[in-house]
Amino acid sequence: ERIEDKLYQNRYLVDSGRPHIKVRPHQSPSPSLLALTRVCPANCYELNESGQVEVTPDGCMECGTCRVLCEASGYIEWNYPRGGFGILFKFG
Ligand code: SF4
Repeated sequence: ERIEDKLYQNRYLVDSGRPHIKVRPHQSPSPSLLALTRVCPANCYELNESGQVEVTPDGCMECGTCRVLCEASGYIEWNYPRGGFGILFKFG
């Protein structure tokens, strides 16, 4: 079985109304914030029609890329999902 097939079996539980990642409001995104629209493997980040970066963390794989790039500078807030929510890895 391929790893992609196994990953496809992961389930994601949305913690409604309590997103674990938030983007700080901004007029125009910094380069590192903008980069998230390209590097997030789950495509959680996108530009809205006003040119600002928005996050929809449903499906986030908790890879930490956006956290490394943007948390220290304060562009995003990042917390692990509450217990029982978020990605539930299932291998084998
Ligand atoms: Fe995307 Fe990874 Fe950030 Fe989740 S932790 S939103 S998968 S870059």
